Amino acid sequence: MNEQESIANGRGKWSTIGIPHKDWDCIEIEDLGEPSLICEMCETQTIRYVHHMQHLNFSKVLRVGCVCAGNMEGNLSEAQKRENGMKSRTGKKKRWLSRKWKISAKGNEYLIADGYVVTIFEKAGELKASIKEKDGDQVIWSRRKYTTINEIKLSSFDYITRLLSDK
Ligand SMILES: [Zn+2]
Repeated sequence: MNEQESIANGRGKWSTIGIPHKDWDCIEIEDLGEPSLICEMCETQTIRYVHHMQHLNFSKVLRVGCVCAGNMEGNLSEAQKRENGMKSRTGKKKRWLSRKWKISAKGNEYLIADGYVVTIFEKAGELKASIKEKDGDQVIWSRRKYTTINEIKLSSFDYITRLLSDK
């Protein structure tokens, strides 16, 4: 059963009362490297590319596959565009960690790439990242918890991929 069929058959949360089925927003997309997570919406599809979906009337962020994400946000082509953007940068992602990360005056690792400046730092014992437009003022701060530097660096890469595909 593919994800579209799972939705049509009302698998998982698609038939759960009290869970919104539309008006979700994607806040992040992540590449797990291999299919290794069950979509939290249809609870059927094993996914590699994880769309993190948020809803005003639901407390939890759901991690879902492309087709569920498209249905949740009411725009399947947008979800596919996001996922294709991520797939096209897979090779680049493999080299991301071995690129020349520099050390800032404050002692933080940073990398300038794809028009953005990624800075990794520690705040109150937690790893944080900021992504700043190289020629702009917009700064985005990480929101999730990370346990390793590599994890947060890779997540930053995925976030930039998302920003690029939104352009
Ligand atoms: Zn799904």
